[in-house]
Amino acid sequence: ARTRTQSRTKGPGRTADHQAVQLLTNIGTPADAVRAAQADNEGVGLFRTEFLFLDRREPPTLEEQIRAYSQVFDSFEGRTVTVRTLDAGSDKPLPFLHLPREDNPALGLRGLRTATLRPGILETQLAALVTAQRRTSARMRVMAPMVTTAEEAAHFAGLARSCGVQTVGIMIEVPSAALRAHDLLPHVDFASIGTNDLAQYSLAADRTSQTLGHLLDPWQPALLTLVATVCGAAEDLGRPVGVCGEAAADPLLAPVLAGLGVSGLSMAAPAVADVRDALAELTLEQCRSLAAAVLDATSSAAARATAREMSKTLRAVAQNGE
Ligand code: PEP
Ligand code: MG
Repeated sequence: ARTRTQSRTKGPGRTADHQAVQLLTNIGTPADAVRAAQADNEGVGLFRTEFLFLDRREPPTLEEQIRAYSQVFDSFEGRTVTVRTLDAGSDKPLPFLHLPREDNPALGLRGLRTATLRPGILETQLAALVTAQRRTSARMRVMAPMVTTAEEAAHFAGLARSCGVQTVGIMIEVPSAALRAHDLLPHVDFASIGTNDLAQYSLAADRTSQTLGHLLDPWQPALLTLVATVCGAAEDLGRPVGVCGEAAADPLLAPVLAGLGVSGLSMAAPAVADVRDALAELTLEQCRSLAAAVLDATSSAAARATAREMSKTLRAVAQNGE
């Protein structure tokens, strides 16, 4: 892979024919935000807010949350910051919630579902976000994790808007939400596909397992088919859809995701440069033909091999044409 110093492209993400594909970063703390904001990217596609809630007996106060969110927004003045509301439970246990013991926590009370147990926590978080945002020029978007049904999407959107959030979204990381994206998306302004959980739930493979990596592979045809389904609904309904799971950081997969119709990719800040270069090498039309070929593959290995071979050929065509 090309190193960062050899990277040829700069600025906003775009294909060879200048079609925009936003390049965003994933952050987990205000300190991450300071580092990520110094790098070349278009903002934050996933701000995981769990850090504020870890290792505590009581939830953080409104003022404490306003301070933390303000620090992040101040780092990204003028850029997009996509905040995810608290994603507690399962692989992100938070003791103060006193969640009941469950035999299958990944299938239990987690993400947005915990808001039904302790509703005040979500309202306070939304109020803190809106107050913090009014003090900066960062463009805040707020999305909920683990949304499963259209009713949940409608409920979250109503609550967020009543608290003053202007751009409301949902994460799509449960197969039911992907399969019925055309029912969920009308309620919100945008969606972001969380491929880590979407892989876990569609392949029935615990994301923390050391032995199931082959099933959790973002090139699994079933996962890519779900991404394509979401993109189809997003295009029909005119809603932007991004990807913020590990899949977004793979420079070979990025043009495939763009070809499927994803409008933004969010990843760890150091991964942005290689993904930007990979997108710049192909036109959107070439990304679409790549995506169609990859969707025809019947295994993750075949999907990867198809992408590798075909991008090499397409790049050669592009270079000869220069
Ligand atoms: C995901 O599930 O893909 C995601 C981006 O969220 P997290 O990894 O925090 O669950
Ligand atoms: Mg997730």
